[in-house]
Amino acid sequence: MKHDASSTQIEDVVSTIHEMGYEARPIPGRQRTAVGLIGNDGKVDAGRIEALEGVLNVIHVTQPYKQVSREWREEGTVVTLGNGTRIGGREIAVMAGPCAVESEEQIIGIAHRLRAAGATVLRGGAFKPRTSPYSFQGMGEIGLKLLARAREETGMAIVTEAVDPEGLEMVAEYTDVIQIGARNMQNYSLLRRAGRSGRAILLKRGMSATVKELLLAAEYLLAEGNPNVILCERGVRSFDTHTRNLLDLTAIPVVHALSHLPIIADPSHGTGIRAKVIPMARAAVAAGADGLMIEVHPQPDRALSDGAQSLYPEQFEDLMGQIEQIAHAIDRGIVPSLVLESGARVGPA
Ligand code: PEP
Ligand code: MN
Repeated sequence: MKHDASSTQIEDVVSTIHEMGYEARPIPGRQRTAVGLIGNDGKVDAGRIEALEGVLNVIHVTQPYKQVSREWREEGTVVTLGNGTRIGGREIAVMAGPCAVESEEQIIGIAHRLRAAGATVLRGGAFKPRTSPYSFQGMGEIGLKLLARAREETGMAIVTEAVDPEGLEMVAEYTDVIQIGARNMQNYSLLRRAGRSGRAILLKRGMSATVKELLLAAEYLLAEGNPNVILCERGVRSFDTHTRNLLDLTAIPVVHALSHLPIIADPSHGTGIRAKVIPMARAAVAAGADGLMIEVHPQPDRALSDGAQSLYPEQFEDLMGQIEQIAHAIDRGIVPSLVLESGARVGPA
């Protein structure tokens, strides 16, 4: 309370807390009185208390999220995909692929190459959330079908984005992991649908979202009964124009301390520049990321989106060798490559 708060104002706060269904405990001090709220189940509307006369400040001593927190679940969550890829365990999972699915030749060709290099999850957007309405918006359901074919041929699991609640079910039919993009991190109707989809979710951090907001967005998914959530640091807005975004690697240990959910890094969107992707991918593994998401295109200069940040396949192959060594140095490994007998087809999960 403010130092000159009257006893009526203090009583007002106490009775409001009671009305809200919690216990209130005034703690008189030399300068001011503090009022403790006991029994916060994460649903307290601080705004209601802040607005009362005589209140100086509402200080949270418990987190506003519950099911995503480490306090709720001490042991780290491991998300297991249909092809056996585990995200959140000792081994680091690598997801790679083009920004967008552009043609059968492009996606099937690159999938074979990425699998051979050791990636076990294939990324590729069929629905693209583009900043400009005139940019390529993705191939839609045809793109999803091509991803499913790539999975059949290579055994890789698929991650692809759902951009709106209406389209989510269709994406869920084809994919192993539904990606919720940075622009949609706080699209609550999309999050609710995703929480009920029965698929694992890759939730990307919004470009101006705090870690707390990211965890609260994830709480929506868990609150709908979906425990298979993977978080993704993909860079935040900054004042410096040298990179597209500022990849916040600190978010990795911060999330690991606050939450049991796995967190991966996307240095492609995180930097926006091909030459910066490899060093930041290495750094992300060193920082403790549970996985990487890397954009790779067979011909980046011809890509319909994000060509400037897409690696050439050879660069990706080099990177795989490097992160393996870094993983070793911190007592981790890389999720083992998918081994296929030649000509064998691996069915979808
Ligand atoms: C993407 O993964 O291609 C993408 C659009 O990412 P973000 O939502 O992080 O911008
Ligand atoms: Mn992209």
